Amino acid sequence: MKELLGFINEEKIKLDEKVDISEKEKILTQVAKISEELGEFINEILLNLSLARDEKLQELDKKNINNEFADVIISSMIVAKLLNIDIESALENRIKILKERGNRWYQ
Ligand SMILES: [Mg+2]
Repeated sequence: MKELLGFINEEKIKLDEKVDISEKEKILTQVAKISEELGEFINEILLNLSLARDEKLQELDKKNINNEFADVIISSMIVAKLLNIDIESALENRIKILKERGNRWYQ
């Protein structure tokens, strides 16, 4: 987790160095990136479940789903950082609440 948070901080610093776009544009661009990465992750899930078109199934590489999952997490964390969310405490607090609910995260 420490290495991941360090990487997210580095990415935030790189974004802060971009002075040619506004803060709102940085956030919205990164939010769009989450959507892009989620689409790639879903595509890999469909490939792994053999639910994609036959010609797409030829592209199946079992490593890709791991990479795309990581991309979703990283892009989401970059947005959180841009919004000044304390990622570690947000996750800790949420996990505590979810455990109190009996781990039913979807309710
Ligand atoms: Mg990706």
